[in-house]
Amino acid sequence: MIHIDPARQSIRYLLVSCTLLLCCIPFAASNADEAAYRTLPLTQPTPGGVVILNLGKPDSAKPKAQFNDIPVAVLETNAGWHAVVGIPLSTKPGQHQLDIVHDDGSTEAKTFQIETKSYPEQHLTIKNKRKVNPNEEDMLRIRQDRTDIANAKRYRHPVVLSTRLDLPVEGIRSSSFGSRRILNGQPRRPHGGMDIAAATGTPIFAPADAYVIETGDYFFSGKCLFLGHGEGLQTFYAHLSKIHVEPGEQVKRGQLVAEVGATGRVTGAHLHWSVGLNRTWVDPELFLVDAK
Ligand SMILES: [Zn+2]
Repeated sequence: MIHIDPARQSIRYLLVSCTLLLCCIPFAASNADEAAYRTLPLTQPTPGGVVILNLGKPDSAKPKAQFNDIPVAVLETNAGWHAVVGIPLSTKPGQHQLDIVHDDGSTEAKTFQIETKSYPEQHLTIKNKRKVNPNEEDMLRIRQDRTDIANAKRYRHPVVLSTRLDLPVEGIRSSSFGSRRILNGQPRRPHGGMDIAAATGTPIFAPADAYVIETGDYFFSGKCLFLGHGEGLQTFYAHLSKIHVEPGEQVKRGQLVAEVGATGRVTGAHLHWSVGLNRTWVDPELFLVDAK
């Protein structure tokens, strides 16, 4: 079982920091389209969506921001600093607050509204019944998997490599993010990603420059991979047949990172692709390069 302990995290942090320092200039120079990718994701002020709040003028120092006590991504454009806030699917509609600490130490609270969004119900039949009703031994593994996943989701690096993402695999895309899943007639957690159907062995490419946070083999997710894109923006790949990268490695947009498979809890071969901000999964559609 794979763990990320704080010591290992800090070693990785140093490793990635050094790599980024060495690599950030060549990245920018080698990709003429990079400027086009720097635009922010689309906003959608609903559970599972993204809220963007303006934090200050372009010439001011970078502020810090937290939502529900979790640091959020703070990104700069020509218009100034922006908090890019992932809204958990479990968020109640209504008024919420972002806590900001400016460079001079002054604090500010910005409020914003979250609107209702009703996600559809999705009924699926899973042949392997243990994947819906795990036994005691499975539950031990699932608890460990959840700890590993929570640790991986905490990992963040301050450098934003890109906020706009390419689709990582060619295939049939379902917009099932957020759907309330009923597996073999039993309600389960809402769907935290986009499913892209493709044959086992179909190549999966990094959707943007990234570093490899973690790989794992979990009861539900099967073989899986976490990529970090900076400031807590993460992408997650599940049900893989093969993984071609290792934790701590730096990868470029378009680089082969894994292959589609049918490991874990699946109805067939596909890529489950999640996009995370401030440790919560949000709708991947909002980040696609061609999203309007
Ligand atoms: Zn999925």
